Amino acid sequence: MNLIFLGPPGAGKGTHAQLLMNELGIPQISTGDMLRQAMKAGTEMGLSAKRYIEAGELVPDEVVIGIVKDRLQADDCKNGYILDGFPRTVKQAEALATFAKIDVALNIALDDEVIISRLSGRRVCLKCGATYHLSTLNGRDTCANCGEKLVQRKDDAPETVKNRLSVYAVSTAPLIDYYEKLGLLKTVQCAPTATVEENYAQVRQTLGLV
Ligand code: ADP
Ligand code: ZN
Repeated sequence: MNLIFLGPPGAGKGTHAQLLMNELGIPQISTGDMLRQAMKAGTEMGLSAKRYIEAGELVPDEVVIGIVKDRLQADDCKNGYILDGFPRTVKQAEALATFAKIDVALNIALDDEVIISRLSGRRVCLKCGATYHLSTLNGRDTCANCGEKLVQRKDDAPETVKNRLSVYAVSTAPLIDYYEKLGLLKTVQCAPTATVEENYAQVRQTLGLV
C-alpha cells in the first residue's frame, strides 16, 4: 500500500506513520526527518534547508521532490511506503504523480486549538524520528527506542508554530481537494481528547485493516 499522510502540523502524522510502519513493515518516509538529519549532519542540503525550517517556511519544492524521488527507489519501498509530510504543495503532488502510484491519501484532521498545545510540549529524537509529549514523559529525557537525548525542535516555538499553521492553510490544505477529486482521499477526524491508541484504531479502520 502506497500511502500519503496529510494533515496540519501536530495532527499526529508522524506518530501514526511510525505505528503503521511497525505493523505493516513498510517504511515511513518523513521529509521533515530527512531534512533535520541533513541539518544535523551539516550537509549542503541541510545547511540550505535550515533557514526555511527554522522560520516555519516550506523548503523549495525542487529540493524535497528530489529527496523523495531518490528515496522511493530504495528496495524497502517495493511493498509500499508511508509518505509523511510530503507532498505539501500542489506542485509537489503533481511531481509525485509522475514517479509514484498512490493508493490512499489519509487526511488526519485536528482542531487548531489543540495543535499549539501539542507542539509546545513536543520533544523529538533526532536519531530515529520518534516523538513524545512532555505530559507522558514523566521527566525522562531520552528516547525509548534508541536512548538518544530528546530535544525540542526550534520550529515548535509558539511564534513559528503560528507561521507553520498559516503556511499549511495556504499551501498544503488545497491538497485535500486535490486528492478528493482523484478519489484517493480518506479522512480521520481526531477528537481533541482522544488518546493515540483511539486515534490509531480509527486510522486502521479507515484504511480497512480491521
Ligand atoms: P510538522 O509535520 O510537525 O510540521 P515536519 O517534520 O513534517 O513537521 O516538517 C518540518 C519542516 O520541514 C517544515 O516546516 C518545512 O520547513 C520542512 N519540510 C518538510 N517537508 C516538506 C515538504 N514536503 N516541502 C517543503 N518543506 C518541507
Ligand atoms: Zn530514538
